[in-house]
Amino acid sequence: MSWDERQRAMLAEMGLRLPVRAAEAVERVDEPEVALVERLAAPAPAPAPVISRPPPPVAAPARIATAVPATFAGLDAPALRDAVATCRACSLCEQRRNAVYGNGAVQRAEWLVITDPPDDGDDASGQALSGDAGRLLDRMLLAAGQTRLGESPTAFVTPLIKCRPPRGRAPLPAELDACEAVLARQIELLQPRLVLALGLQAARRLTGLGEPLGRLRGRVHAWRDLPVVVSYHPAYLLRSPADKAGAWDDLCLARATLTT
Ligand code: SF4
Repeated sequence: MSWDERQRAMLAEMGLRLPVRAAEAVERVDEPEVALVERLAAPAPAPAPVISRPPPPVAAPARIATAVPATFAGLDAPALRDAVATCRACSLCEQRRNAVYGNGAVQRAEWLVITDPPDDGDDASGQALSGDAGRLLDRMLLAAGQTRLGESPTAFVTPLIKCRPPRGRAPLPAELDACEAVLARQIELLQPRLVLALGLQAARRLTGLGEPLGRLRGRVHAWRDLPVVVSYHPAYLLRSPADKAGAWDDLCLARATLTT
C-alpha cells in the first residue's frame, strides 16, 4: 500500500506517527517507535490473507439473501430502525434507554463494522460508538479509505446486539439469536462486501470460534457468505495504544481481502 499525505495524517491521528522520511523519523521518535515506524512505512505491509475457511466470493458478489424472521423481513432501512427502537424480541428491551441501530452508509456499504454490544454512552445516546472510541474508529476507517461520515459514507457501524445488557454483562445466546435477525436484515439492505468485527464478543459470535481475540486476528473468516476480518475494539485501543499497530495490520488485511 502506498501512503499519500491524507493517509499519513490519518495514521498520525490514530497515534501512529508515520513521518515523510525515515531519517526524520529516526531523529524524532524514541528507539522503540523506530521499529514500528519503519514497519508501518514499508511500501506493502498488508499481510497475506490466511483463509480459515473456504474463501467466500468477494468480487462482484451476488446479492446477499438471508433468512430474516418475519418481524423484520421486508422492512426498508427507516422502518427497520423504527422497529429496532421499539423491539421487544428479547429481555434486553427491559433496561435499555435506547436501542442502537447503527449509522453510516445509507444504500450500499463496502464495509459493515460490527462491534461489541453498546456501552453506557451508546445506550444513553442511541448512537454506535459515539464517544472517544467512536472518534478513534472514524480516524481508523478514514486511514483505510472508508468512512461512516459525510455525504458519501462507505461503511456502516452497528453493534452485534442493539440493546445494552445490564451492567455491561455479556449477552446470552438467546439474546444474540434474537438480535441476529436485525443484523440479517441490515445485511440484506446494505449488501456489504466485507465485515470488520471489532471486539472479542463480536469476533467470537461471527467466527463461531471461542479462541482469544489474538488468535482470531490475522486471517479471513466467513460469516453469511461474507469475508470477516477481526480486530481490536477501539475502546480497548484507547487503553492499549501499543496495539494500534496491530489494528492497522488488520485494516490492511481487510483492504487486501477486497483487492486480491
Ligand atoms: S437486543 Fe435486539 S432483539 Fe433484543 S430487544 Fe434489543 S433490538 Fe430487540
